[in-house]
Amino acid sequence: MTPDRRTFLRAAIAGTTLAAAGQSQIESAGAGYAHPRKVLLYESTRKEFRELMEQGTLKVVIVPTGSTEQHNEHLAMIHDTASVTLVAQKAALLHYPKVMVATPVSVGISPHWMDRKGTLTLKKETFLAVVFDICESLQAHGVKNILVLNGHGGNVAPLRASVPEFARKLGIRIEANSYWDAYTPEIVKKQMQSGKAPGHAAEFETSFAMAAFPERIHWEGVDYDKVKPHLKIKDPKSAVQEEEFAREAKLATTAKGEAMIDIAVKWTAERLRQMM
Ligand SMILES: [Zn+2]
Repeated sequence: MTPDRRTFLRAAIAGTTLAAAGQSQIESAGAGYAHPRKVLLYESTRKEFRELMEQGTLKVVIVPTGSTEQHNEHLAMIHDTASVTLVAQKAALLHYPKVMVATPVSVGISPHWMDRKGTLTLKKETFLAVVFDICESLQAHGVKNILVLNGHGGNVAPLRASVPEFARKLGIRIEANSYWDAYTPEIVKKQMQSGKAPGHAAEFETSFAMAAFPERIHWEGVDYDKVKPHLKIKDPKSAVQEEEFAREAKLATTAKGEAMIDIAVKWTAERLRQMM
């Protein structure tokens, strides 16, 4: 833990503001720690939400979309949902109290990983219906700006195709981005030795997890070469690609993860600013 994070934790525990703790900003955006309750709609009371709406304080709500899907042998299956929710929360904290984060859609469109045990998938129509219904609920409460922030590759094209229609139907502003839209080719080249981001369970996602939630990485007992013949992956191309991911995951570091989180949080915060 860096001194900044310790100061933030102490201030949070003592219930004091960071200004009182002598800090000029909320926290380093790259740090894994985020406030356990602030800005999360699902951890707020109805009173807190209502008052923000009545005061006209709440300008944008983020709807995170992720997945519950295999992430090779070493990463937890909730990775995409956990990572996008963290980016959303940190970006919202930079605008506190003008932005809230709605309950994440934690199962996405993942039929391509169904031959790996454990993956859950929604049909495209089901996923889009869930996202729409959440947006409609927010609209019913008076929310006028929604950013659907995505963290799973399989959700990208359906969201891009449908969100403009959601906005028209509900008569409010709804936009969609994936948090990795923040990463230009130059950023990826500079930060990732493999030259790839977001990828899948490889250097980028493993670095993200090391920085944000190392408890979701389980290298113990992983012997990829030994397990490979038992995986029964039908598509040979996909099997080769997965092996590549397993190799690239070894390039991950906490520092790379912190840098990439920081870039995504600041980029998302700027998107939110544009929507206010
Ligand atoms: Zn992922």
